[in-house]
Amino acid sequence: MAVRREASARRPIVSSSQIIILVVVGVVGALLLFVLSGAAASANQASNNRSVVIESDQQATRPSAAPVGVPPSAPAMLPTIEEVITTPTPRPTNARPAGPYVGIVAGHWGNDSGAVCPDGTTEQQTNLEIAKRVAERLRARGVWVDLLQEFDSRLTGFQGDVLVSIHADSCDPIDADPPATGFKVARSQASAIPTVTDKLVDCLRGEYEKSTGMRFHENSITRDMTSYHSFREIDPNTPAAIIETGFLHLDYDMIVKQPERPAEGIANGILCFLKTQL
Ligand SMILES: [Zn+2]
Repeated sequence: MAVRREASARRPIVSSSQIIILVVVGVVGALLLFVLSGAAASANQASNNRSVVIESDQQATRPSAAPVGVPPSAPAMLPTIEEVITTPTPRPTNARPAGPYVGIVAGHWGNDSGAVCPDGTTEQQTNLEIAKRVAERLRARGVWVDLLQEFDSRLTGFQGDVLVSIHADSCDPIDADPPATGFKVARSQASAIPTVTDKLVDCLRGEYEKSTGMRFHENSITRDMTSYHSFREIDPNTPAAIIETGFLHLDYDMIVKQPERPAEGIANGILCFLKTQL
């Protein structure tokens, strides 16, 4: 026991090979820590990315709820590529677009059916089908278009280059002379800018006749048209007109089955008017 103790006392406390082992273990340990902390950071990043996609998906399902004009405040709010492609850019509420700006009201949309035909076709559907096509045609020509409901809140104080409301007449067989077929265009009786608005009416009438081949139905412009509620709601300096595209009974083949033609007439009428205002 004593010899062993003596021999042990003569040996150095830590041999050089033990120092090398300690250094190697230290270096390996440090490397391990570095690798582990890197892995944890990328896992964190991946989880952040997942939350971006989830947030974007939620936004995509309710685009109208997104606050208009509020820029994303943090990188986590950046939209996905899909969102950028599919979400229309909202118009800033306080700024007019640089080009022409037109409001198209799809009559009765969002409120009631309007006239109803025996086959279930409603005036509201007919108006909306035409209105959507008018909007598409104008947008293709660089015009900014808002498609509006009958009592759309955006009508209050609406300031634009044109507002046109699209309606259609009754689906009941009407025994009248002249027969209940044809279209009508009217402006507000109390327009603040009658000369300008008359140009809009003339353009709509001329282009609608050209596109549809329909006749203007004289003598049946009612007070419902000339005192149309939107005329009182919008800014008085916005040229506005209402068009009755035809009678759902006798003009069914044109306005229900071929909405492209009435839409072409209305879009061209609006473009004709915009040219007169350049
Ligand atoms: Zn109507």
